[in-house]
Amino acid sequence: MKILVINAGSSSLKYQLIDMETEEVLAKGTCERIGIPGGKLTHKANGQTFVIEKELPDHTEAISLVLSELVDGTAGVISSMDEIDAVGHRVVASGETFTETTLVTDETMEKLAPLSELAPLHNPAAILGINACRAVMKGKKMAMVFDTSFHATMPDYAYLYAVDYDDYKRYKVRKYGFHGTSHKFVSGEAANYLGKRPEELKIITCHLGNGSSISAVDGGKCIDTTMGFTPLAGVPMGTRSGDIDCAAAEFLCRKKGMTQAEGLDYLNKKCGMLGISGVSSDFRDLTAAKAEGNDRARLALDMFIYSCKKYVGAYMAALGGLDCIVFTAGVGENTPSVRAGILSGMEAFGIRLDPAKNEYKNDGSIHEISAADSKVKVLVIPTNEELVIARETAALL
Ligand code: ADP
Repeated sequence: MKILVINAGSSSLKYQLIDMETEEVLAKGTCERIGIPGGKLTHKANGQTFVIEKELPDHTEAISLVLSELVDGTAGVISSMDEIDAVGHRVVASGETFTETTLVTDETMEKLAPLSELAPLHNPAAILGINACRAVMKGKKMAMVFDTSFHATMPDYAYLYAVDYDDYKRYKVRKYGFHGTSHKFVSGEAANYLGKRPEELKIITCHLGNGSSISAVDGGKCIDTTMGFTPLAGVPMGTRSGDIDCAAAEFLCRKKGMTQAEGLDYLNKKCGMLGISGVSSDFRDLTAAKAEGNDRARLALDMFIYSCKKYVGAYMAALGGLDCIVFTAGVGENTPSVRAGILSGMEAFGIRLDPAKNEYKNDGSIHEISAADSKVKVLVIPTNEELVIARETAALL
């Protein structure tokens, strides 16, 4: 079975064609600048990279181009579209409407439409991607795989904000969480690596990238996560503030003469590591600046580490114990100083890193970085959200 995974953004579209028998990626690529001048497709297959510069007025044109590459004599990996058994679409927000991977039908698309207000930057793009695929691959089975559905198992006392309960019921304002496919993937891989069933394990998964979130996973089910109604909440991130007192946000809007929308844009794009350091949102730049003595880069990193440490502690309490901590995503996989910082001073809780193992060179495989006598295993596991989308799609069919 071959599954095409689609991750559509407002002006971009990423794809992978995965052979489910071997879970091998047969081809992958990105369409950029959809709907704006200078369209471009970068397609990787058969050990080569193919670049096509072509105007892509909309997502339908983009997906048509992708399909023509997939069946092309040189760049292609299949002989016809019939070889694609199904398409799995990444969708960010499911609201409370969908709690699991769902088949794309006229009816489910109708239910998906109103959820755009929960993720205005992401869901409308996913809808464009789905509609484009439906237009050029008529009759093909398709699934929507949600970033939020792994978090649907959170108990009510964890996902609710303490606002008027009637307002929660009316407006569905609550914590949803994000990065669910990643938390699901790495917690499952951790269980495999440890030779245990997910039901036997209490795991904290740290997805630390440009956007970061931490989840508590009890027996394979998410019981809490740091992101909230939107991905703005939780630990400070590349450009997002993370948790902030709402009253402080309103105060900043007044002082800086920003509308609410401008204030949100500010908190999403100009704060976090970038805002504190004044250097960059990128952890490589921050680590280099800190090494050169830049104190605001040091401060940004310290704030990030401290916030992550507090959530790890909180989730140990929420889980009532801990077997394993997993680090994943760009920062989690590549920044030993951040991992060491988060877990420093946690020996009393049975967490002990092996400093030499923590400095391993990332080779894309799983690394155990805890000391031999650490009660809690610490693993670094490369995430693979596309594979989760493909697996979920295959399972649905
Ligand atoms: P996104 O949330 O956009 O998917 P990523 O998971 O790719 O982000 O993470 C981006 C962050 O990871 C950046 O801050 C970057 O510094 C860091 N990062 C990514 N790759 C590396 C690497 N090879 N070495 C060090 N840091 C890396």
